[in-house]
Amino acid sequence: MLFKTLCEYLEKLSLTSKRLEITSILAKLFKEASSCEIYETVFLSLGTLNPQYKAIKFNIADKMMVRILSKAYTIPERDILKKYKELGDLGKTAELFSESFVKQETEVLEVYQKLKRIAMEEGAGSQERKVHLMSMLLKSLDRIGAKYACKIILGTMRLGFSEITVIEALSWMEKDDKTLKKQIEEKYRIYPNIGFIAKEFKENGLFGIKDIHIETGVPILSARCQRVDTAKDIIKRHKTSAIEYKYDGTRVQAHLDRNKLSPAPLVKTFTRNLEETTNMFPDIVSAILDSVKAQSAILDCEAIGVDPKTGEFVPFQITIKRKRKHNVKKTAKEIPLKLIVFDILFYNRKSQIHLPFVERRKILESIIKESDKIIIAPEIVVDNTNKFMEVFNTAIEKGLEGIVAKDLTASYTVGSRGYAWIKFKREEKGTLEDTLEPVVLGYYRGAGQRAKFGIGAFLVGVLDEKEDNFKTIAKIGTGLTDEQWVRLKRRCDKIKLLEKPKNYIVPKELFCDIWCEPNILTSIRADDITISPIHTAGYALRFPRLVDFRDDISTKDATTVQEFKNLYKLWKK
Ligand code: ATP
Repeated sequence: MLFKTLCEYLEKLSLTSKRLEITSILAKLFKEASSCEIYETVFLSLGTLNPQYKAIKFNIADKMMVRILSKAYTIPERDILKKYKELGDLGKTAELFSESFVKQETEVLEVYQKLKRIAMEEGAGSQERKVHLMSMLLKSLDRIGAKYACKIILGTMRLGFSEITVIEALSWMEKDDKTLKKQIEEKYRIYPNIGFIAKEFKENGLFGIKDIHIETGVPILSARCQRVDTAKDIIKRHKTSAIEYKYDGTRVQAHLDRNKLSPAPLVKTFTRNLEETTNMFPDIVSAILDSVKAQSAILDCEAIGVDPKTGEFVPFQITIKRKRKHNVKKTAKEIPLKLIVFDILFYNRKSQIHLPFVERRKILESIIKESDKIIIAPEIVVDNTNKFMEVFNTAIEKGLEGIVAKDLTASYTVGSRGYAWIKFKREEKGTLEDTLEPVVLGYYRGAGQRAKFGIGAFLVGVLDEKEDNFKTIAKIGTGLTDEQWVRLKRRCDKIKLLEKPKNYIVPKELFCDIWCEPNILTSIRADDITISPIHTAGYALRFPRLVDFRDDISTKDATTVQEFKNLYKLWKK
């Protein structure tokens, strides 16, 4: 397929916000792509080159793109900048300056390879090489091609869909309906490489993806916790429940494979958002190698910093300092991590996710040699609320945020919130003390006192996973310090958008003065959740106030509409 053809589909996608229409356009695109180019087509349409766990960054910012355009079209940088300011988008700027006479015959695969080469350039002189390669590529593309090549590189595609919509479109491609979505999604959850799945599916339908299994080196979507109202509810659901402390560190999925040598055995760690973090955690890597007595294993864990002097766990804000690319060794010495392993998903070449938790736990106990660097999460099995509250209160006395209750008979709930795991936190005792994590969609300039900051309130929304969009839940104008207002405005301005993105479902009366990318995650507390005729989530927060910004997790972790509705029900009980 020609890159131009792909771009024409992308253009159509950019003109609609209707999910059914997006799915149908994608289904046609995937039908037209051959099985040799569907991997590339899928990722390019998502505005990337690879799955998250193998992400490669272009490291080309706006300023550099201005230079690239100037070189490609031999136009002074100041003229490019002027147009960019006017249009607010470098893709559109490239479209405008590119030569109308270029007859673009470049194939999708060729453009993909060239983009990949640009992204892979690193080391001395790499900036110059990137400028050169990208300007050459742009010269060979026609208007629409130039527009989308720039958008992909700058990460500004904003077509308003994610892997979930791609999965649905694959079903439509094959069956003209969404009946295969569930089966494809099941594979995606254990092997989140949507390009690879699309290729296998395109070649042989469901039969083609039948043999996609859990593999070391490829992260699995993590299980999440549900909430309930009372201890009684936990016992009612689980009958017998294994209670573990809820450690306030960072989730780590650790992979070990002593048969995959390159030349050392494979050890990799991933975050809950499928980002690889192996290089950040050399102490975890060595703990896994030394203490896990298995040929291969995938472990679900929480890593938490320890004060080297006292041996006590450090607060979350300190642990999170370990998530860095530079000064790794020094920080590892200052804040050593302890790995608390609480589940096993794969052991000696076999998936374990369908086993009941009690069986998975037995495997864990047989293969982990505990040390000061790695332990198995201690658990206490309870079958009545008195005993439960005893364990819970001990957790609180120890300064932990709560407990996670685990159903001994349940399999691992890959990539979703199930009642197999129920969290019960200090605050979650029927009050509205728990926080929500909505995303900032934009801000209002503000008047009076606040006018001096240029921001008076901001709009937050929750993620609708089913519809792949954001719905509003509150306009927030209080609870921020002056410094936080200034910081929030600065952050929003850095990622501001010229118009409301299609996937922000916002009533007219709440339209922001400045819209921004959904990249700022907040932690919000409120007095209540009420049914709302205005907010598009259907419910709204009463007296919402900012607790903090959540820079440690990605917007994929934002509170969802479904969770928000559950909270409403929970708190109304
Ligand atoms: P929260 O903000 O309450 O941590 P969340 O929405 O980020 O919630 P959940 O899936 O609801 O995530 O809560 C489980 C999180 O708690 C896991 O992602 C994990 O990082 C952490 N955790 C700490 N201790 C445990 C444990 N023993 N078992 C499972 N998860 C644990």
